Amino acid sequence: MGDGENTLPILVSEHIMPLLGIDAIRRQFVPSAKENEDTVGTLDPLEEASNSHEKRLIHRYHNRAAFLVTDRCFAYCRHCFRRRFTGKLIGEAGEEEIQSAAAYLREHKEIKEVLLTGGDMFTLSDSHLDRLLSILKSECPDIIFRLCTRAVATCPERFTPSLFEVIRKNQTGAPFYLMTQFNHPAELTRESIKAVEGFLDLGIPAFNQTVLLNGVNDNAETQIELANSLLRNRIKPYYLFQGDLVKGTRHLRVPIERGLEIEKEMRKELSGLGMPQYTIDLPEGGGKVILTHDYMLGKEDGTYVFSTPDGGIRHYPG
Ligand SMILES: *Cc1c(COP(=O)(O)O)cnc(C)c1O
Ligand code: SF4
Repeated sequence: MGDGENTLPILVSEHIMPLLGIDAIRRQFVPSAKENEDTVGTLDPLEEASNSHEKRLIHRYHNRAAFLVTDRCFAYCRHCFRRRFTGKLIGEAGEEEIQSAAAYLREHKEIKEVLLTGGDMFTLSDSHLDRLLSILKSECPDIIFRLCTRAVATCPERFTPSLFEVIRKNQTGAPFYLMTQFNHPAELTRESIKAVEGFLDLGIPAFNQTVLLNGVNDNAETQIELANSLLRNRIKPYYLFQGDLVKGTRHLRVPIERGLEIEKEMRKELSGLGMPQYTIDLPEGGGKVILTHDYMLGKEDGTYVFSTPDGGIRHYPG
């Protein structure tokens, strides 16, 4: 077996439990022995640790940052890309850590957006969340905070009226955006849709990030159904992520070549609103880059040559 360093706790939430009969769900939450056979990846392929101000604030892009509110989640995804941090008994950001993050954000006026992530911010108690949001909002009223959570999928019962009251009363200054992670249509249960509706009802727009996963959603049909269901429920498909080179996740990754085929099929069937951007977060902290089937074939005598989605050829002057 492995050396133990790439361990991630095994935890499946009550809401997910009855869904484990579905292969696509089981593969996301029930570990495989293959996790310990993976020697390809590293624990921190995005080099987040070296881009961190203190251990919780990642400032990799000049105009936006990510604050790791906690390392805890309601259920641990076997494909988690932040294995160096997630479920490591680090705990929640305390008052001092929140204050010092706020001070950093205040000093760095170029930061316009901050992702509140981890782990999952909604594992915090209502009172702790209230403290977090009220400090951040009073110190940084102009920053757009993204509320990043998988909990709407894994623990929708967490989204109680009292939690929404905490969010509502902290809706001052710049808006909140909700960022969800649904990877398969079966995750859009009635309860999960209702949890997202709680945010929408407060005027908070919802965007979804899906991870492309082997044996879970690595076909156009599943992706198209997922995107259409999300859109029907007022959640905009935002990113479709190529798997990061995280140690322990190789068996869940899909080759880029296959991903590009799926992307091409999706673009034929989905509206512009329904289509997420297929994206790779480059190793060694290179940052995110969009992947797409290339419709521009080249330039001939000053004229661009394109293939149409149906395989035709068109020209456009340069
Ligand atoms: C992905 C990411 C963001 C947000 O990037 P967008 O492309 O704006 O969604 C910000 N900070 C870090 C560290 C990230 O990994
Ligand atoms: S919810 Fe997010 S942080 Fe938690 S295990 Fe899943 S991918 Fe990792």
